[in-house]
Amino acid sequence: MVTTPFWLSYVLATYLAVCIGIFLYRLIYIIRLLRTGKAKDKRWDHFGRRVWALITLGIFQKKVYHKERFVGLLHGFIFWAFVVLSVSIMETTAQGFAMGWRIPLPEPLTGLLYFAEEGIAALGTLGVFMAFFRRYVIKPKKLMHEGFRAATVVLIFIFGIVVSILLYDAAEQAMGTATDPGWRPISRTLSFLFTSNPELFWWIFWAMHLLCLYIFLAYVLFTKHSHILFAPFNSFWVNLKPKGEIRPIDLEKTEVFGVHRVEQLSLRQLLDGFACTECGRCTDNCPANRTGKPLDPMHLIVHMRDTLVDQGPAILAGKTEGLPDMFQTVHSEEQIWQCTTCYACVYECPVMNEHVPKIIEMRRHLVLMDGKMPTQVMDVLRNVEQNYNPWGIGWDQRGKWAEGLDVKMLADDAKVEYLFWVGCVGSFDEHGKKIAQSIARLLKKAGVSFGILGPEEKCTGDPARRMGNEYLAQTMIKQNIETLNKYAVKKIITMCPHCFNSLKHEFPDFGGKYEVVHHSQFLARLVKEGRLKPSREVSEAATYHDACYLGRYNDVFQEPRSILKSIPGLRVVEMERSRETSLCCGGGGGRLWMEETVGKKVSVERTEHVVAAKAGTVVTACPYCTIMFDDAVKVMDIEGKLKRKDIAEILEQSVGG
Ligand code: SF4
Ligand code: SF4
Repeated sequence: MVTTPFWLSYVLATYLAVCIGIFLYRLIYIIRLLRTGKAKDKRWDHFGRRVWALITLGIFQKKVYHKERFVGLLHGFIFWAFVVLSVSIMETTAQGFAMGWRIPLPEPLTGLLYFAEEGIAALGTLGVFMAFFRRYVIKPKKLMHEGFRAATVVLIFIFGIVVSILLYDAAEQAMGTATDPGWRPISRTLSFLFTSNPELFWWIFWAMHLLCLYIFLAYVLFTKHSHILFAPFNSFWVNLKPKGEIRPIDLEKTEVFGVHRVEQLSLRQLLDGFACTECGRCTDNCPANRTGKPLDPMHLIVHMRDTLVDQGPAILAGKTEGLPDMFQTVHSEEQIWQCTTCYACVYECPVMNEHVPKIIEMRRHLVLMDGKMPTQVMDVLRNVEQNYNPWGIGWDQRGKWAEGLDVKMLADDAKVEYLFWVGCVGSFDEHGKKIAQSIARLLKKAGVSFGILGPEEKCTGDPARRMGNEYLAQTMIKQNIETLNKYAVKKIITMCPHCFNSLKHEFPDFGGKYEVVHHSQFLARLVKEGRLKPSREVSEAATYHDACYLGRYNDVFQEPRSILKSIPGLRVVEMERSRETSLCCGGGGGRLWMEETVGKKVSVERTEHVVAAKAGTVVTACPYCTIMFDDAVKVMDIEGKLKRKDIAEILEQSVGG
């Protein structure tokens, strides 16, 4: 039996006080920093759903396992090692004051606890080896960032913690004083290592365990491993609102728009930085970053956290004048304008970080406070303001695409079941107009009662909102609601996923509540009901591209595919990155109207996926995507080799016009 020297408890008490003191000091400092967040973002509603999110996403880390099984597994081993070992940690620490103290549990619980402890310590050790293997052998690019060294130090500590348990248990087995030796098969097997002088080895590994453990505790909140503590809070305060809804600003009560200083964000937004695991998944899936642009969603989050910590004393003292703002320390203006708002970063993030709202807030500051924006953004906003569409084409031309199709205007006859919301692309772009015509013909063929607003329809405000001009976006939304209410519109079919998202999720914030359906959903329903019968063979190989605002934002994946499946002769192939992981076409977030001068074009990258899938036709359900593909085939000089069709166009080909 090991005995405790009299001085040990004094040394241990001092050591614990220092380490726990540093941990608490840092924790309090971080909480004070988080509380400087000025924006309101209360998330206490749907308490049950939040607790469920905490359990599934925070504790069982559902999203960590998503896609990357190897990483999920190694992370799971380490995480559960810590959960189970927290009990034995208490015991090991207490032994420094009263040697031989055991957790008072009845048999066989004590035995089971030791069994679990050793098993989980072994898995934890394996997890650390896997993590080292990944970092130093596989070397994924996304992990090669400035946090790499600190993460390695933390891994060494974790290794020390888990392996020392097995070793001091083995030494105890060699001494013959282990409790429940039969429940500890691993340490019993390893005990042969310590046949000579087992007591000395017990002391060495016991001390190693406590040294690694409490130094780790003191150090952890200075590293990205602060996510151990903060990520569960992020899961609880997960966004339960529709993914595509941008938080409106109360224009009456607000004087400062957007953010340019970190403390202007909300507590929940600041928490993202401390919850971030620096796994790099967001950056790895960012279309802008993948095509060589400096926008880096992980750095956006990490630099935001570092700015908060670095400027913390000044922020807490209220002396922020003259300090560099977020455009200098977090992301430059150029980077902020490179975002397509595709939502891939948010979707991929295992700790529920929200990148897009921060980017929008920074754009809001640039546009509404500083009046700084690229010339093309300025042009688009002016065009929307003057002619209610981003191209600035005369607003009275909006209904021209429907000439000769015998489509009702609500101004002439509002007694229709559905409003067909055409959108700006369908009204003014050449290919867009053809798609709108296809949809109208199909609706007529199926005997749907519908009409359009024609010149009374205005941009939904989607581009203006995502470009940061909340004033203009709200003006558009409110004017449209007025028109819709004038005709007592109840049901809307939209052609564009961006209009669909705005009408469905953003108009209700301003009192415009309608039943909104995207044309791919509506046409799929008509096919299912037998009101449209695809009968002509379309002998092509086609692939479907999931538009971000339809798929990732609104979970519409199945309906367009069901239409393609119903077309005789059509061979449908899935390309790399489909459904939730679809790569953006590059046109969202107002990027459709901006020059792409840095790196490769996102649309070209996506078109390469289509070509690799050996599809002769790329089918979309978003007119933004169609424009981007039309542009990419020109850049790639494959115009005659790859057809671009909307889901309505290919359906009409089979149904017959
Ligand atoms: S929304 Fe898309 S483009 Fe923007 S940062 Fe995230 S992944 Fe990149
Ligand atoms: S923001 Fe999320 S996805 Fe990106 S590095 Fe951090 S944890 Fe990973």
